[in-house]
Amino acid sequence: MADPRGFLKVTARELPTRRPVPVRIQDWREVYERREEDAAALVRQSGRCMDCGIPFCHNGCPLGNLIPEWNDATWRGRLGDAIDRLHATNNFPDFTGRLCPAPCETSCVLGINQPAVTIKNIELSIIDRAFEDGLVTPQVPDRLTGKTVAVVGSGPAGLAAAQQLTRAGHTVAVYERDDKIGGLLRYGIPEFKMEKRHVDLRMAQMEAEGTRFRAGIDVGGDGPNSVSGSDLMQRYDAVVLAVGATIRRDLPVPGRELSGIHQAMDYLPQANRVADGETVEDQTLATDRDVVIIGGGDTGADCLGTATRQGARSVVQLEIMPRPADARPGNQPWPTYPMIYRVSSAHEEGGEREYAVSTVEFIGDGEGNVRALKVVEVDMSGGRPEPVPGTEREIPAQLVLLAMGFTGVPKAGIVEQLGVSVDARGRIERGEDFETSVAGVYVAGDAGRGQSLIVWAIAEGRACAAAVDAYMRGGRSDLPAPIRPTTVAITA
Ligand SMILES: Cc1cc2nc3c(=O)[nH]c(=O)nc-3n(C[C@H](O)[C@H](O)[C@H](O)COP(=O)(O)OP(=O)(O)OC[C@H]3O[C@@H](n4cnc5c(N)ncnc54)[C@H](O)[C@@H]3O)c2cc1C
Ligand code: SF4
Repeated sequence: MADPRGFLKVTARELPTRRPVPVRIQDWREVYERREEDAAALVRQSGRCMDCGIPFCHNGCPLGNLIPEWNDATWRGRLGDAIDRLHATNNFPDFTGRLCPAPCETSCVLGINQPAVTIKNIELSIIDRAFEDGLVTPQVPDRLTGKTVAVVGSGPAGLAAAQQLTRAGHTVAVYERDDKIGGLLRYGIPEFKMEKRHVDLRMAQMEAEGTRFRAGIDVGGDGPNSVSGSDLMQRYDAVVLAVGATIRRDLPVPGRELSGIHQAMDYLPQANRVADGETVEDQTLATDRDVVIIGGGDTGADCLGTATRQGARSVVQLEIMPRPADARPGNQPWPTYPMIYRVSSAHEEGGEREYAVSTVEFIGDGEGNVRALKVVEVDMSGGRPEPVPGTEREIPAQLVLLAMGFTGVPKAGIVEQLGVSVDARGRIERGEDFETSVAGVYVAGDAGRGQSLIVWAIAEGRACAAAVDAYMRGGRSDLPAPIRPTTVAITA
């Protein structure tokens, strides 16, 4: 146990400082700054961990991260032990330490009557210092099995599966349709939440371990740089589909055809490319425009931070659900992950949030461009949005961004070519061992689970790799399987 009296001596959470808003919105770099005094706060915070007999945080984290063990090592100043225990369950704490919503913290036992231990921040500090100190090295397998695996998709699920299978001795190639590796880590999530150099560092580690990357190849596509599903099946002993859930939800209301209305996942990748030094022809920009973002989740917040940095005149983020409570509501008790009002770094930087509103129409300027949204307040007390009569109004907007989530995998292309079944919610069907309806073809991440989180994608990739390894070794694998395809979060 870290400090037996730590939780009695230190009762408050201490988190690292973020760069001042007026400074950070001038650039695309990460919002955090590291200061010397943060190191002492980190030791104090790790000392608050009570090393509970039943560490609920293990269950809160889909990866089953060994949180009390690395808290203890951090408190004792043993970085080598801390990173070993962290990497024992998580391939990429550099991603989760920056991007995870930290369900572990809402299930921390200390959280029953005190603010929870700052688990996510301790995780991030361990991995960042481990990289700085050269403790993150390639783990090259002792011997090769001679078996081959194709992983389709290079988001966190594909990368985790590929790393586990490579380390188990299989020869793994990762195919990616985009020109660069990373999935949503690369072109969805903005630089100010996670700089892309972290993806590049992991790619370098994986390449040194033996994983091969094939970017710019559309598996199942019909362009010149494509590979067919049957080619893949012939060339490899097993295939892992980690293709994400890429069908975007749309809003088919009158005026949808107007110019100036874009999907978030058309807008964000362009901004990410520009932040990476590329030039994008006809880039959609928020500069000097009134912007409305439809959708109150992570993607919407990423659009907000991006529009702020591009110099939008005003930004409004709309959410159809009512504003959540500030504190844990009684019907979502500890250790569940509660729906509460959260303020992301982008929300600190500006813009307004409006709740319980629905868009009924996009209004044009007479020249084919969007000029405003007509919205109405909605009453959700019956479980469905009921428009409140007399509450219709207009919100000016010359740029509208649709950030309303994803509805599954496209059937055309690889899914159709391989003949794998898709369920009614647009997810590739799988059995208890992550195998699809086609023998030797497995699925991991958002493609199988539906739109989710990075921590779940990594857990899926790890568990799927164990199943693929067992398939190739005739039924046995030593790889860890943190979850089953049916495992769900601890929710209310
Ligand atoms: C804008 C945005 C912000 C988000 N922010 C967060 C956050 O802060 N924290 C968090 O936990 N989660 C966040 N999420 C969710 C998270 O990014 C996803 O749950 C996660 O990336 C899913 O991982 P994946 O590997 O299953 O799929 P993806 O990351 O979607 O990767 C799938 C990859 O497969 C490739 N692919 C698809 N079809 C083919 C094909 N036929 N051939 C070759 N390649 C193909 C795609 O190009 C893509 O690169 C966010 C999502 C979005 C959209
Ligand atoms: S991966 Fe997420 S849930 Fe797991 S320990 Fe880290 S922050 Fe917590």
